[in-house]
Amino acid sequence: MRILLVEDDPAVASGLSDGLRLAGFEVHHVTTGNEGSQYALGANPPDVVLLDLGLPDRDGYDVCREIRATSSVPIIVVSARDDEIDRVVGLELGADDYLSKPFGVRELVARIRAVTRRTTSDAPGDKHEAQHIGQLMIDRRAQRVFVGDEEIHLTATEFELLSTLAEDPGAVLRRTELLERVWDTALYVTPKTVDAHIAAIRKKIGHPEWIESKRGVGFRLDIA
Ligand code: CA
Repeated sequence: MRILLVEDDPAVASGLSDGLRLAGFEVHHVTTGNEGSQYALGANPPDVVLLDLGLPDRDGYDVCREIRATSSVPIIVVSARDDEIDRVVGLELGADDYLSKPFGVRELVARIRAVTRRTTSDAPGDKHEAQHIGQLMIDRRAQRVFVGDEEIHLTATEFELLSTLAEDPGAVLRRTELLERVWDTALYVTPKTVDAHIAAIRKKIGHPEWIESKRGVGFRLDIA
């Protein structure tokens, strides 16, 4: 599995590269936002992008958006400041996960495994059928979502979240349950993460009312 590491700090980059290689990953390291987006969107794209927000040439938020505009590669955003992470969540950049510095390689590896499991998990037999709920169609095998005839491009995490809600349409799923089932590194993410991803899905499907919030509890899919 190949990781694109976009990080300008040489000490952080060499520590992470060494740790990731020891854990069995291939690492391609670049130091600028432009190189990062070029490589991520290039002919031989990585399996995961690890993106530092503080880059010398460009705003990391912008790089994240640019990659996400045309690619569904899992993106893990890294920041030195917690308030930046709050902004990431609030901005709905389409990142799949985020980490605040300092963090250990073990934690990072757990996150990488979690985001790639969501993208590549082998679907059990019952997941091979496309599921239709009203105008919404979810094809789990191909990881594609349609509203009517129009395809909706979700990130791996958004896809997993929507298909989890769709497993039991009408039922309220608690935030804690969604965290466990979709993220499985629930130790590190907060209910706010669920809300941010739900907001992104609502916007993309163009029918915000299809995902109903139960205040203080969770969410349910309600497609008339
Ligand atoms: Ca930096």
